[in-house]
Amino acid sequence: MAAMASSEPAPRAELTDYETVRHWFAIAADRLGIRDDVAAVLRTPYREVRVQVPVKLADGRIHVFSGYRVQHNGARGPYKGGIRFHPSVDLDEVRALAELMTWKTAIVGIPYGGAKGGVDVDPSRLSPRELQTVSRSFLNKVEKVLGPTRDIPAPDVGTNAQVMAWLMDEYGKHHGHTPACVTGKPIALEGSYGREAATGRGVVFMFREAAPLVDLIPAETSFAVQGFGNVGSWAARLMQQLGARMVAASDASGAIHHEAGIDAERLAAHVAEGATLAELPGVEPIPPEDLLGVECDVLIPAALGGMINADNADRVRCKLVVEGANSPTTPAADRILGDKGVFVVPDVMANAGGVVVSYFEWVQNLQHFRWDEREVNDRLGRIMRKAFREVHARSHSTGTALREAAFELGIERVLEAAILRGYIE
Ligand code: GLU
Repeated sequence: MAAMASSEPAPRAELTDYETVRHWFAIAADRLGIRDDVAAVLRTPYREVRVQVPVKLADGRIHVFSGYRVQHNGARGPYKGGIRFHPSVDLDEVRALAELMTWKTAIVGIPYGGAKGGVDVDPSRLSPRELQTVSRSFLNKVEKVLGPTRDIPAPDVGTNAQVMAWLMDEYGKHHGHTPACVTGKPIALEGSYGREAATGRGVVFMFREAAPLVDLIPAETSFAVQGFGNVGSWAARLMQQLGARMVAASDASGAIHHEAGIDAERLAAHVAEGATLAELPGVEPIPPEDLLGVECDVLIPAALGGMINADNADRVRCKLVVEGANSPTTPAADRILGDKGVFVVPDVMANAGGVVVSYFEWVQNLQHFRWDEREVNDRLGRIMRKAFREVHARSHSTGTALREAAFELGIERVLEAAILRGYIE
């Protein structure tokens, strides 16, 4: 097995999301020669808020959820990052995701720090009214640390434009109408054109940059999507517009395969009607764990963290992985993919399209002005291409993978800002 050929000690098979971020940070900080005391400042979150979210649900009982907002680093600007509603949410996960936002915003060069929030609730088990109650209750507990010049939430797994509308409305009760306090809002409530598709669109911009490096021609490319949700389904639809063919997809309901190609538009419409992937006519249902092993050119993990791990990475049979999710690949899996010659565009650059268009939304809100979708998409493309070229140039000159180069670039920029502010000498 190729993975055994390397002489480096293998990392522990399964790291938590937080240990995974720690792993990549430590490698980059070491390569950059950052002193231990300075590294400690950079890796430690600035503020961690943990709150009780008691909500009376339709069953008449009070359910106590836990809510979090972690502000990791604000040297480059206000804290920025999504809010996740998922049963797996805990402080460790939110901390990891907050730190990823710090490096992500620095890598793409937008003027923000990094944050993340979440509630350990399963939104699929709540009625719209209950979901609204949870959203407003959470906002009330954390609003003191938020604001357009302090910390700006956005959607993440399990939240969407509707949830952002409730958060904006609740924030407005305390501070007056403040659309720039949250991004990813509905178009009708000062959201930005292009925000909903932005993360998926960014993934496809990154694919287009990486394709020539692995001898792929977009119109002749086959791909598989793990996690056909917001990010995955937009990435799939936009890949299809380039002429690429989706051969497999999965979500929480299961996985499907069809060598001749699954119409991404049709699948998105089918899912929007509430049907499961396997109910799409003409596709073959496959066990979800087989999705990673489907032969294709490009794999787009767009689900949760740790999905590509030491137990399954060896099954991957593609040339290119573009990480739409945050932390989808554990360090052990990353090593296996590297040994197999799979080129990986890492999360901290590949999925940055969402926060880039969040930045555009915030800018538009602050100016009380709206750009059209073409302007948003063109600007997004310019930022994503620049980030790819900068990270790729660095990886080329230092002989590292894109992930190491991206972390180095992000950490270097945050360090520079911290020094300029006088936080670090
Ligand atoms: N949740 C998204 C991310 O992980 C978007 C964050 C934002 O737009 O602030 O990048």
